[in-house]
Amino acid sequence: MNGSLKIGTIYGIPVLLHWTFLLIIPFFAWIIGSQIILTVNLISDLFSIPIDTSLITAGLTPYILGTVVALGLFFGVFIHEMAHCVLAKSKGIKINSITLLIFGGISSMEEQTPDPKVELPMALVGPLTSLAVGIICLGIMYLCDAVITAAPLAGLFVFIFGYLGLLNVFLFGFNLLPAFPMDGGRVLRAWLARGMPLNKATRIAADVGKVFAVLFGLLGIFLLSPILILIAFFIYIGATQESTAIKYSFLLKDVTVGDIMARDVLTVAPDMTVRSVIDLMYSTKHLGFPVRDRGMVIGMVTLADVHKIPPLDREAMQVRDIMTRGAISLSPSAPVIDALRIMSGNNIGRIPIMDGDMLVGIVSRTDILKVIELKEM
Ligand SMILES: [Zn+2]
Repeated sequence: MNGSLKIGTIYGIPVLLHWTFLLIIPFFAWIIGSQIILTVNLISDLFSIPIDTSLITAGLTPYILGTVVALGLFFGVFIHEMAHCVLAKSKGIKINSITLLIFGGISSMEEQTPDPKVELPMALVGPLTSLAVGIICLGIMYLCDAVITAAPLAGLFVFIFGYLGLLNVFLFGFNLLPAFPMDGGRVLRAWLARGMPLNKATRIAADVGKVFAVLFGLLGIFLLSPILILIAFFIYIGATQESTAIKYSFLLKDVTVGDIMARDVLTVAPDMTVRSVIDLMYSTKHLGFPVRDRGMVIGMVTLADVHKIPPLDREAMQVRDIMTRGAISLSPSAPVIDALRIMSGNNIGRIPIMDGDMLVGIVSRTDILKVIELKEM
């Protein structure tokens, strides 16, 4: 997913943080901090634990607690996502990365057409993990209440773990909603897919997701709740992405890059000047060329590479100075959906197609989008 920052690798899986995360942590910290009395009363009533608020409400403590709870919530989301991935790995599915978003994560898996038998346990393990985390937090809350003798300090810990317990139980329930992009959407799809084609089952689950999004949005406006409106947006975008992704992989299944590639590939020599490459782009309307040296492809030069060179240097500099060496290539038998995935993941517009050492064609994002349009008919 674009706009994500890699924060580390766990269990061999790269963990990415979406940029919205950086905005959402302070936002949540502020919301939690400003509604602290309300929540303290809720937790106290719900679990019949009297809570001493003297430390909780002192000075800036509400906002510090807000930050702690917000970070704790996202740690819970992370554990939830890891549970999906660990189970997927045990089923032999390759995980490309985990991206942490606002109300959940996205695990990018190398799985073309989901198998309902694998999908069901994989979807359920996330919410069940959240439930387990929630129960553990509530257990710690009772423990803190029993063990810590200083009432103000006990109140502080009871608040933190009580809040995190409730949030993780909420994550459990929320993710079981039978609609995409929630885990429950996968359960619904797996159930529907027993009696209909997968793409139709996906579309229905995604449509249900959009209905939920609209309902949450209306409720959010009615209750003047920014969090609900945010959740509505998250669901709507997720549902749309899910149905587009599955539609593409359905339309493009059985199509290889060899089927759709352009065979007459224009290549450039490494000693060509940047100026001439720009002229060639104007005359051919191609925005990237493989670089060929003595019959071997040694890299790619694209509009983005050319763009970095100031106009004054374009006369003197050559392709070899600006090209991307060891560019990604695919074999003619590779599925088109892989090409599309590589292009989106690496933000590139075209991929050279190599049969062994030989350049046999080139496939561009526009070519693939045209094929999708044709297949949609
Ligand atoms: Zn999940």
